[in-house]
Amino acid sequence: MEDYDIIIVGSGPAGASAAIYAKRNGMNVAVLDSGTIGGQLSTSSEVENYLGFPKMTGMEWSERTKNHLEHFNIPIILDTAESITRADGMYKVSLTSGGSIAAYSIILATGSRHRHLGVKGEEEFFGKGVSYCATCDGYFFKGKNVAVVGGGNTAIEYALFLSNIASKVYLIHRRDEFRAEKVEVDKLSQVPTIETVLSSVIVEIFGSDAVRGIKVRNVKTGDESQIDVEGVFIAIGTVPNNDLAKAIGLELTDRGFIKTDENGRTSMEGIFAAGDVTGRGKAQAIGAAAEGMVAGISSSHYVQSIKLKK
Ligand code: NAP
Repeated sequence: MEDYDIIIVGSGPAGASAAIYAKRNGMNVAVLDSGTIGGQLSTSSEVENYLGFPKMTGMEWSERTKNHLEHFNIPIILDTAESITRADGMYKVSLTSGGSIAAYSIILATGSRHRHLGVKGEEEFFGKGVSYCATCDGYFFKGKNVAVVGGGNTAIEYALFLSNIASKVYLIHRRDEFRAEKVEVDKLSQVPTIETVLSSVIVEIFGSDAVRGIKVRNVKTGDESQIDVEGVFIAIGTVPNNDLAKAIGLELTDRGFIKTDENGRTSMEGIFAAGDVTGRGKAQAIGAAAEGMVAGISSSHYVQSIKLKK
């Protein structure tokens, strides 16, 4: 059983970068991904802070990542890793489609997923007005009223993006100041169709076949009001995709991120981690890519040392 030297789970900036560094270190690598190549960043409307690329869309990023992997003949396996087990000094990754692949080392670059509000109507109206991705679903709300929830960069990015499509955007944030970078917050005042609703939380998303509105509570006064919207875009951060890590018994932080050292090593020999799933890179693509580089090199050294011992 010797399919690959290194299997990388995830094709976002961390996974793709790890793959490129490992491949250029002479490793036989494969990248496994169940979604779009390029990870979460590929759903971004606009990326302006990746060094060397003053402006690109998420889809452009995805295409560039795919081309870069193909340039180095790195196989991209479109499948989901169900479990990882150890046998005969190798790691076996079982796939959802059936079958398995094996390698000496694994790099987990599984990223993170959207955090949910947990309010009435959120699950019921998912895909019927509730969305976690403005770039993906914004177009369906052309000329309509929408709400965006959150106070970070993503929420502001969504509000600005949607203001070009929707007739009105309510930006609802639970505090009276934004967490997002000042340069982003300043853009809001230039868009008259964005109304900020601060110190407020959504208590219910309601509708019939689709979303018709939200109930909002002011956390300072306790007053509740209703806003008529047909779309609700939730941008309240992310949680790490740690299922594989948990199942194999890797040590996690108290917030569920995979614990890694400065070389991307996890608590299990031969398993490395990089990117948003480690919580180290401030959830920035460039940070994830840097972590991927470290994990790619460390994992390659690990595999080389195993081969030398044989
Ligand atoms: P984030 O920075 O963690 O912000 C999450 C926001 O959601 C916070 O304002 C938080 O409120 C709010 N929130 C969390 N749980 C909530 C709940 N249950 N109910 C209501 N509100 C809730 O997440 P993000 O905006 O997705 O950004 C993640 C990282 O990616 C950040 O480091 C960000 O800078 C980066 N990012 C960068 C760009 C860019 O540079 N182009 C774009 C997008 C994201 P509090 O503020 O009160 O905690």
